[in-house]
Amino acid sequence: MLHIRKSKIRNLKLIDTHSHIYSEDFDTDRAETVQRAREAGVEQIILPNCDSSTLPQMLSLQAEYPGYCHAAIGLHPTSVKADYETELSMVRAELMFNKYVAVGEIGIDLYWDKTFLDQQIKAFQLQVEWALEYNLPVIIHVRDSFNETMNALVPYKGRGLKGVFHSFTGTVDEAREIIAFGGFYLGINGIVTFKNSGLAAVVADIDLKHILLETDSPYLTPAPHRGKRNESAYVSLVCNKLAEVYNCTPAQIDEQTTFNAKSLFAI
Ligand SMILES: [Zn+2]
Repeated sequence: MLHIRKSKIRNLKLIDTHSHIYSEDFDTDRAETVQRAREAGVEQIILPNCDSSTLPQMLSLQAEYPGYCHAAIGLHPTSVKADYETELSMVRAELMFNKYVAVGEIGIDLYWDKTFLDQQIKAFQLQVEWALEYNLPVIIHVRDSFNETMNALVPYKGRGLKGVFHSFTGTVDEAREIIAFGGFYLGINGIVTFKNSGLAAVVADIDLKHILLETDSPYLTPAPHRGKRNESAYVSLVCNKLAEVYNCTPAQIDEQTTFNAKSLFAI
């Protein structure tokens, strides 16, 4: 008798380039979360760091899934406070003694708090320099700070810097400015599925060769799960939405964006 087994694994090889599934939101079902990601066709996951408090969980998740979960190291702009120099020495030490796929996430965030703007810029630029020193890509977080971020990057133009503007939600002009800088991709997540975001129309004007897929789990859950916890499996919903935007198949989106992610992170 012939048994034909239907594989649950679809023929996709998605990469979630931004996921915080090491966070405590997943403490009760992290293994199942990774399993669901695999079943949704997710081949690899990038884990960006926030600060010294998130480092142990992130590293233990990477150790549990070698070759599947890849850690990045950096100090997140919302974690830049009075003690930022101590935090930065942790980042520096990690870069010296451990292997990471990127420096991130780093950047400028003026949405939550403007108190430490000067320190945010300093921390951002220092970490960009370390990325150049270690020949690593940067994962950039920008919130209400597009001009400040681009200004902070001016000294590094033409020096081989590469990376991603994660959770891109800007205008077509801003996307073009990032692309013209050279070396940068735009990370697109569940926001593109939000009808009121206008992001789908912006993305439609940008060549797919500049796009990376991400979830930013546990935040920014795509439709139809909006409002619930986000997880890496849902990167397939972002892929499906982009297939609609670019009028092609999910497999084509998958192929190009996975190629982009592999080129950038060398994974
Ligand atoms: Zn993040």
